[in-house]
Amino acid sequence: MSGLLELSGLTVAFGRRGARPVLDGVELSVGEGEIVGVIGETGSGKTTLARTAVGLVPPRSGRVVFDGREISGLRGRALRAFRRSGQLSYAFQDPLRALDPELTVRRAVAEPLTVAGDIGDTEIAARVDEALETVGLDAARLGDRLPGAISGGQRQRVLLARAIVTRPRVLIADEPVSALDASNRNRVLRLLDRLRAERGMAVVVISHDLSSLAGIADRVAVLYRGRVVEQGPVREVFGRPLHPYTALLIASAPSVRAEGGPGAAALRPSAEPPGWTAREGCVFAHRCPFVTDACRTAPAPAPVGRGRTAACHRAPEWRELIADPVIAQGAPETGLLKAAP
Ligand code: SF4
Repeated sequence: MSGLLELSGLTVAFGRRGARPVLDGVELSVGEGEIVGVIGETGSGKTTLARTAVGLVPPRSGRVVFDGREISGLRGRALRAFRRSGQLSYAFQDPLRALDPELTVRRAVAEPLTVAGDIGDTEIAARVDEALETVGLDAARLGDRLPGAISGGQRQRVLLARAIVTRPRVLIADEPVSALDASNRNRVLRLLDRLRAERGMAVVVISHDLSSLAGIADRVAVLYRGRVVEQGPVREVFGRPLHPYTALLIASAPSVRAEGGPGAAALRPSAEPPGWTAREGCVFAHRCPFVTDACRTAPAPAPVGRGRTAACHRAPEWRELIADPVIAQGAPETGLLKAAP
């Protein structure tokens, strides 16, 4: 069954003649009412993935399909019309940069509707109030304030209100809780879950915070250097990772381990870093403790269970490679997670 939003073979490169690859053959499917997390370190391509999906970055190759219609090929008037429809919405990462400092909260949230141009003022005002109320902000008290006069948590929720005011079918939220304290973080996570439950909205949450995703995501995709190295149901991926990079991410997230993920054992290093260049072979080879000569050939994502894929030649051997279902001693400070070359 195809998803509401489908990314297939998505490749993006920046620089002269595409010298700097940022995404490489990304496959991701998001179904109606589903929350999909995208995790990875800074620089893994998460934000580029989000921006490409919503049409802000043109892919070099591959397709973005929304509700059966390819949108990555839209240009000019057709692209503007699709954006104005607001069906696919993007909540930017940094509220201070994303919000115009001279636009009041109310006007900032209204902007996607005023740009659409086919909704009357009364309807816009009602929709803005509804969006602010949905994210838990008091429109009467905060509506006329500027972004600089409200708290960081409130700004983050203004961005979300602005992203949902068009009543999108898919919301892509880029690091929606990264700058928030625990209570605001929980509030925003509950809000995303509620939007999915009440409106059937699909949500893609870009995050480097595994514990936030563990509580709300149905599925998760793990991005490393622009490639999806593993994806599947969040409980299975966090509970029994089948790619060394996922395992090491989890090893660095104690709260995820405590919630049923791997707990306290080790990945055992078994190999020296390969002598070949970082551009050859498996994208994780230069940090991987299990690298072998076979890894000189880049592994394609392969099925490793129901609804799961992993891009690792040694995924079938994982039971032997991991001494215990716990990975803690693989944490970065042990030196197991080698610095990226
Ligand atoms: S393919 Fe090889 S280098 Fe890549 S993650 Fe698997 S074992 Fe490590």
